[in-house]
Amino acid sequence: MIFEYAPAPESRSVVSLRETYDLFIDGEFTPARSGDHLTVLNPADETELARVAVAGEADVDRAVTAARRAHETVWSRMSGAERGKYLFRIARIIQERSRELAVLESMDNGKPVKETRDVDLPLVAAHFFYYAGWADKLAHAGFGPDPKPLGVAAQVIPWNFPLLMLAWKIAPALATGNTVVLKPAETTPLTALVFAQICQEADLPPGVVNILTGAGETGRALVGHPGTDKVAFTGSTEVGRQIARAVAGTDKRLTLELGGKGANIVYDDAALDQAVEGVVSGIFFNQGHVCCAGSRLLVQESVADEFLPRLKERIAKLRLGDPLDKNTDIGAINSAAQLERVRELTATADEENVERWSPACELPEHGYWFAPTVLTGVSQAHRVAREEIFGPVLSVLTFRTPEEAVAKANNTPYGLSAGVWTEKGSRMLWTAERLRAGVIWSNTFNKFDPTSPFGGYKESGYGREGGRHGLEAYLG
Ligand code: NAP
Ligand code: MG
Repeated sequence: MIFEYAPAPESRSVVSLRETYDLFIDGEFTPARSGDHLTVLNPADETELARVAVAGEADVDRAVTAARRAHETVWSRMSGAERGKYLFRIARIIQERSRELAVLESMDNGKPVKETRDVDLPLVAAHFFYYAGWADKLAHAGFGPDPKPLGVAAQVIPWNFPLLMLAWKIAPALATGNTVVLKPAETTPLTALVFAQICQEADLPPGVVNILTGAGETGRALVGHPGTDKVAFTGSTEVGRQIARAVAGTDKRLTLELGGKGANIVYDDAALDQAVEGVVSGIFFNQGHVCCAGSRLLVQESVADEFLPRLKERIAKLRLGDPLDKNTDIGAINSAAQLERVRELTATADEENVERWSPACELPEHGYWFAPTVLTGVSQAHRVAREEIFGPVLSVLTFRTPEEAVAKANNTPYGLSAGVWTEKGSRMLWTAERLRAGVIWSNTFNKFDPTSPFGGYKESGYGREGGRHGLEAYLG
């Protein structure tokens, strides 16, 4: 007898969307000078959610001017304890409105509501609470007795964790006394706009947080504006390079959180069922739209024949479909453009004679969807082993010795994350010591906590976000 899950859709009624949204500058919603808008879609069904203003150079200038004034006249003069009160207030409002924000994030991004509800939103609130706690303790953070804010921060974020990336950027900046101008991604601006409303609700002084919606051009204008002191970017390595060039030669400080091609190493002594769960969540969490995804499985040859069937059996049980259904494991790909990129890169595997497997799984008729995919017979030279796919696609490689596992894991231009699965503590430490990755998980994966620093090596970027380290990026 087969038990099926009945539909369990989360109600959309908690979300009230406006038809159009203006820019958030100096504490007010204000139209873009150009009058241009872009349309925001629900990637799960391609329906229109709202239209948002497109900020141009004149709007960037207005926002930077407002942030400068707020920094000089209010925010940098306020005591840390006072700043902390605002951050605690914002954190509490986020908690109170978390169901609404979780549903909206799911509609805008396509990710399962199970994830926005249980992962994104709790982490967003936790991040604000954590940095609120630091605001009055900066003299004890290890950066001297009287560390100073940098001034105005220009912040540009991607679409994969829209509100969480906003929290990673805004919470430490505000706690340290900086003011910000933030540009969310073109396809996922809606929770940032609700966050702007939350800033109003919390009575945050005008100009401390400014939100400019728009596409890549808006980001370019913001990053290129001479009036900021700091640029913080999360996104692709390609755009990160352009930004590094744009900022070079200025006095601005820069942090870059870029792409990744994380290795998940499964040794022969690992608890295999546990490793299966970790490998699955490592690559299929958030449809694989995760910079630190475990997109390369390195499994020890002696257990590969046992591990791979178990892995496929588990993947076949994942439920793909309506992101607002509480039982959905895999939601929609965020945009038509991203779907095209995933298809194109995965297709190179076919040309290179890599074996491709997906479970029987029906894709919805509308929206952007990609079935979970496992590529076996992959070698280091294959494009799917080298390039970031940023989708639900796992490349499987094998190894014989620990030395070979480490060499293969490190053979990448990236260095963001890695996972090690073994029952032996000495082997875990031996491996972790040799891996060149900013975050290494053992017998778990994709675990986040605001107290823990996160960031990369090599083409994965530089600087750390989160934890005490995250304060340093905003202190002079
Ligand atoms: P992206 O194209 O680099 O976009 C990131 C942000 O930059 C978006 O807001 C984008 O605006 C904006 N942008 C585009 N061109 C710009 C330019 N010339 N100057 C300034 N800003 C510009 O990245 P994505 O495709 O949205 O995100 C996926 C990538 O982000 C992946 O490579 C992933 O690994 C990486 N990522 C890294 C981390 C991390 O912490 N290391 C976290 C999440 C994601 P539009 O949205 O309008 O294009
Ligand atoms: Mg969208």
